[in-house]
Amino acid sequence: MPFENLMGDEAIALGALHAGLSAAFAYPGTPSTEIMEYYLDHAEGGGSGPVVAQWCSNEKTAYEAALGASFAGRRSSVSMKHVGLNVAADPFVNSALLKIKGGLLVVVADDPGMHSSQDEQDSRVFADFARIPCLEPADQQEAYDMAREAFELSERIMAPVLLRVTTRLAHSRAAVETRAPRAQNPVAKVEDRWGWTLMPQAARERWKRALVGYEAVRSEIEAAARVEPGDCDLGVVTTGLGLEYYRENEAELGRRPWRLHVGRYPMPYAALRELASKVSRVLVIEEGYPFVERELRGVLPSAVAIEGKETGQIPLDGELSPDNVRPALGLPPRPGLSRAAGAPELPRRPPQLCPGCPHADSYAFLKEALAGYPSRVVTGDIGCYTLGALPPFEAIETCVDMGASIGMARGAAEAGLVPAVAVIGDSTFYHSGLPNLVDAVSHNSNLTVLILDNSTTGMTGAQPTILPSERLKAVALAVGVGPEHVHLLSAHKGDHGRNVEIMRRELAYEGPSVLISERGCLEAIKKARKA
Ligand code: SF4
Repeated sequence: MPFENLMGDEAIALGALHAGLSAAFAYPGTPSTEIMEYYLDHAEGGGSGPVVAQWCSNEKTAYEAALGASFAGRRSSVSMKHVGLNVAADPFVNSALLKIKGGLLVVVADDPGMHSSQDEQDSRVFADFARIPCLEPADQQEAYDMAREAFELSERIMAPVLLRVTTRLAHSRAAVETRAPRAQNPVAKVEDRWGWTLMPQAARERWKRALVGYEAVRSEIEAAARVEPGDCDLGVVTTGLGLEYYRENEAELGRRPWRLHVGRYPMPYAALRELASKVSRVLVIEEGYPFVERELRGVLPSAVAIEGKETGQIPLDGELSPDNVRPALGLPPRPGLSRAAGAPELPRRPPQLCPGCPHADSYAFLKEALAGYPSRVVTGDIGCYTLGALPPFEAIETCVDMGASIGMARGAAEAGLVPAVAVIGDSTFYHSGLPNLVDAVSHNSNLTVLILDNSTTGMTGAQPTILPSERLKAVALAVGVGPEHVHLLSAHKGDHGRNVEIMRRELAYEGPSVLISERGCLEAIKKARKA
């Protein structure tokens, strides 16, 4: 069959298309963005038929749209970064109880090392919490194969299946052998309301089924798991990319450890016990939380030592690498490659706004308008403009989660810290800032919302904002912000004086106001010119 050179994200997308995907939904977020971009570039469907591919307001709405497509009997997918799963947690956890019709593939890309994220959370924990099976590819080939496998499993057990990848796999390339596309599912009739209506009586029954189904998946995984024999008393358990990091060091090991790779969850307890019966200690190499390591403590006999992140042999935070797992395998640092071997530490270069970015002009008028206030708060949000926390701007004071700027400014104002300004991008505003603005209007909170409207989701590569800029003012008016307190500003140096004057006026106003500072993202403009 043909080979393609694919990034992990692209391999997932092509695997899904070849599995007969009909509909895909997402909100952009590094490192998952490229999955939806691949669908959009291949909307003809990769041989299975045309696919609906849509960006959504946020991960929750994307998840719910995918649920609807599954309800219609079609294979559907939703993709997001790890913190996006927090936003989609409500439908995600509840969907474990549904009687999934068209296969539902949930792709979550974790970001150990926080290359572009505010935390390192491990989505395997979320899958376990929801009792939703999870597949974790070790390379691009498995990413392709597991996307296809996920749909088959999902339809067989009538539950969603989560595919977890991490940044390094999502964004690196390898040759992938592809297989013939499968036909898409036809649209199904509505026939089983109680498989999809989670009223308590039905939900109790569905939860029992979900628990039984989850253990049935464990039995299947156990039946397929294979312990590779070794010749010493060390056992090594790898998960995901941990397998590659082990393999890169394997040739240097004097004795061969007993080995088990875990790529599917729930975990194969029987195989793990078999491994432990051959050795006196088990080392776990896994990217993310010590998830397998911790569970092993309840599964293996106490005589077997379990080593990994919690016991200090493997770094507890950050991204794993072939180098930083070497000490746990009893190997010395590789000469010339690690700092321990004397290599110089590279200087850190903090990220910066693009030269000429409109946010710089918005921060300039914001700071001037605030000058003279002895106390005030400026809450920030998630996007390129988060860099406004760094020099030379030092204009925002918080960054917690998508949409938090407005809620936090409101809370600070209600607590007496004024003036309170929330800085938020247009895409983030639609993602989850809007409900906070509704709260502010409802309580007549004393805050100024500064929407930095660059008409795109700039940080993830300039995906379109869910609604065009012209609608922003109408949305602010529609939720009830007073017409005299909604302003369109132009984020150009030539408009600096007018912007400062309007901002000062609204800082003095004791109620909610919205300032929309408009100018397009330079990267989005470049991208549009190239298209
Ligand atoms: S990508 Fe766009 S919004 Fe982000 S820093 Fe560059 S110009 Fe500014």
